[in-house]
Amino acid sequence: MTHKLGWGLVGASTIAQEWMIGAMRAQPGNEVVAVLSSDARRGAAYAAGQGIAKSFTSIGDLLADPAVDAVYISTTNELHAAQAIAAAAARKHVLCEKPLAMNLADAHAIVAACQRAGVVLATNHHLRNAASHQAMRQLVRDGSIGKPLFARVFHAVRLPAHLQGWRLHRPEAGGGVVLDITVHDVDTLRFILDAEPIEAVAMTHADGPVEDGVMAVLRFDNGVLAQLHDAFNVDHAGTGLEIHGSAGSLIGRDAMTQHPVGEVRLRNADGERVIPLQPHNLYVHSLAAFNRAVQGLGTPSASGEDGVRALAAALAVLEAARTGQRTPVRVG
Ligand code: NDP
Repeated sequence: MTHKLGWGLVGASTIAQEWMIGAMRAQPGNEVVAVLSSDARRGAAYAAGQGIAKSFTSIGDLLADPAVDAVYISTTNELHAAQAIAAAAARKHVLCEKPLAMNLADAHAIVAACQRAGVVLATNHHLRNAASHQAMRQLVRDGSIGKPLFARVFHAVRLPAHLQGWRLHRPEAGGGVVLDITVHDVDTLRFILDAEPIEAVAMTHADGPVEDGVMAVLRFDNGVLAQLHDAFNVDHAGTGLEIHGSAGSLIGRDAMTQHPVGEVRLRNADGERVIPLQPHNLYVHSLAAFNRAVQGLGTPSASGEDGVRALAAALAVLEAARTGQRTPVRVG
């Protein structure tokens, strides 16, 4: 039987418009059938602009639509948990934006609800889908840098003007750079290192009601110390991810981005070489894995559990910054 997947968009969002609708439509048998917005007029305009047949203002109505097999949740962060749990109860597969939730109890509740319902749950941590990060993971696994000892992530950028709303001004919506960017750093490091963060120290910078910059150090359970620098207000730093090991270093540049770009170099006693990459659209790659998972053929790129782990570390970073204390990463 031909695979078919009808998507309901929960949230008339920028990310859906810029990346996810296209990535869904790139999958064989996938169709975007409906969008949910809290504002009927904006929802209708969004649907018309994106070529989506239906718009709803009630999640119950969207979930009752038999054409919806899966939901993509990209509302502001405080809404994710209730919407994901409602979708699971309606037996819809769930692709949820990061952070999965605002706290661990809600994130675990999402995972449990999807398990109970027997639906696929994925967290949209796109960076592990990048050819650059996949190559770094393989090089670490192959032992090409020896034992990994240190990591450095630079993810300090300028938030584009059209995204400078709730991220900068609404703590109650999950604004702030840590829930926005640090979660991605953590997920990418977990993916490359195959290790779990266990404790954090951190300081944040803020010009408004939420932090717009953070410097943090995470210790992983394989001994790696990872330094993170994330910001919303830096124009010219560029992005990077480096892993330094006992026998070599991996230098990734310009890869902490939504775009399929970036370069990876391996430096060791033999000198320096650029690792050949075959870049692909990160979101298309992620959606392909989601489709396979729905068909029982493997797991999503980043699971619900991955979303929980990234959130746990981000919350530890926030707590460490607030208290000035070295803070354990508590997953439970
Ligand atoms: P947006 O601000 O574009 O959308 C979030 C919500 O804001 C929408 O659900 C919508 O509400 C409301 N909204 C949008 N436009 C307007 C408007 N003009 N006036 C009033 N309200 C509006 O959010 P993003 O797309 O930037 O982020 C959404 C989620 O996706 C977040 O959880 C974020 O963390 C995540 N994200 C993930 C990325 C990734 O690469 N994984 C990248 C970017 C974001 P309504 O639905 O009620 O219409």
